[in-house]
Amino acid sequence: MLCSHLRPSLPHLLSLRLLGTAASRTVAVKQPELLSATLAFEDSGAFRVKSLGELLRALGVFRLCSFPVLVNNCGKLMSIARTLLGRRGFSLLLRPTVYAQFVAGENESEISQSMEKMSSLGLRPMLAVPIEEDLGESTGEKRYDDNMEAMLECVRMSHSNAWCKDPMMQLKITALLSPELCVKLTTVIAQQPYDLDLLIRAMDGETVTFPGLDEKEAAHFLCGLKRLNRISEVSVNKVRVLVDAEYTYMNPALSLVTMAMMKKFNKDGAWIWNTYQCYLKESRSLLLEALRLSRNQGFCLGVKLVRGAYMDKERKLAEKEGRADPVHKSWNDTNDSYNGSLDVMLEVISQKPDGYRIIVATHNEESVRRAAKRMEELGIDKDGGSVCFGQLLGMCDHVSLTLAKEGYAVYKSVPYGSVDDTLPYLVRRAQENRTVLQGIRKERDLLRQELNRRMRLSLTGGR
Ligand SMILES: Cc1cc2nc3c(=O)[nH]c(=O)nc-3n(C[C@H](O)[C@H](O)[C@H](O)COP(=O)(O)OP(=O)(O)OC[C@H]3O[C@@H](n4cnc5c(N)ncnc54)[C@H](O)[C@@H]3O)c2cc1C
Repeated sequence: MLCSHLRPSLPHLLSLRLLGTAASRTVAVKQPELLSATLAFEDSGAFRVKSLGELLRALGVFRLCSFPVLVNNCGKLMSIARTLLGRRGFSLLLRPTVYAQFVAGENESEISQSMEKMSSLGLRPMLAVPIEEDLGESTGEKRYDDNMEAMLECVRMSHSNAWCKDPMMQLKITALLSPELCVKLTTVIAQQPYDLDLLIRAMDGETVTFPGLDEKEAAHFLCGLKRLNRISEVSVNKVRVLVDAEYTYMNPALSLVTMAMMKKFNKDGAWIWNTYQCYLKESRSLLLEALRLSRNQGFCLGVKLVRGAYMDKERKLAEKEGRADPVHKSWNDTNDSYNGSLDVMLEVISQKPDGYRIIVATHNEESVRRAAKRMEELGIDKDGGSVCFGQLLGMCDHVSLTLAKEGYAVYKSVPYGSVDDTLPYLVRRAQENRTVLQGIRKERDLLRQELNRRMRLSLTGGR
């Protein structure tokens, strides 16, 4: 496991287990009664705020995304198109279409325009610097320092532009610490758990020894921790930093570092959050461990609850290495896992709203309805700060806009940057969210309904 502190202690977990049991009992209720008819998400009126161009663009992009062959090969297709059209031609093709659908813009003035529009619709931006690295893609220390500068700029933009109250941003630890080191750390801490205080001392600039790492690895770890410390120091009391979860072969290291950041910076509020991927069989026990740790060590816990984006790769790797599949067997099992963890979090929030926060990061309408229903039952404020919802920019706007209209706090995950910088991010997003993209038929139907309504209006002259 992660570190000695992250191991669940049985007596302490008992009460949480009971919550878990209660949760799984209620999971059987598949369709929670609607609080408000609008949470059926059937109303195309949500799209009245969109311009004709935006409606047509969304319809076109979603149509393309409905062809699995295109989504599965979009990386290759884009690179062929880029070679054939050249950088400028490719950018001209992508900018008004896929890029405009999923990316906020390239520079601060473009991003500001998108954010102001979003904010006028009651949605809150959660900026995401689109830096992604996996094994074998590692770059030098200088590049990680540059990434840190980009993250600091992201903190500044999120805070200074007053696009919304309570700003949030996403952070990928592998943009600041090499994926290779994260994998090594994961193996090391499974044998000899690290104390969170060791990492905190390193963040404070103390020279510490990291058992199991060689000199070069320890030096890089130290630099990475200092980078993370700098970002946390700048964002605390201003912007909430949500750390992304990645692959199981490095997640324990990412969680270790995130927990250390939480212990150091979440004394008076949840400024650093961790992500829990409910498609993992171990996700419930990881969440319970985090709850226990936050209670024992006296820090606030922020949770981004997702289903998980790397299912295909996790499965392929497990099969290749002859390991058991870490992902739940079926989508239904993942749904039960998600809804159960959601119930656990809402229960603890209702007991101690200042100690815990959650973002229900999903496009799944049933999970969203379930969260809304439980919030009402438990007396949790729609916009009290402890529960909010999250979807990706350009996806499932009918869910986001409806929730915002109903008074819930809704964030859109917003990548930004040049076409070249955001391309790998877009390709991965499209592939990772294949299941959602193929399931956006409903959004397409609602967009079409709105388009038909406008055509009828223009034909009848508004009568
Ligand atoms: C704001 C935000 C932040 C995010 N941050 C992260 C992050 O840090 N890390 C991360 O990994 N993902 C992250 N995601 C992506 C997320 O994990 C999901 O992949 C994506 O949102 C789709 O899940 P859903 O709940 O929206 O939709 P749904 O359509 O309800 O569910 C699709 C998901 O269910 C799971 N699933 C599908 N089929 C099966 C099956 N046969 N067996 C088991 N499980 C199955 C997969 O996880 C799939 O992605 C984030 C999403 C949002 C909106």
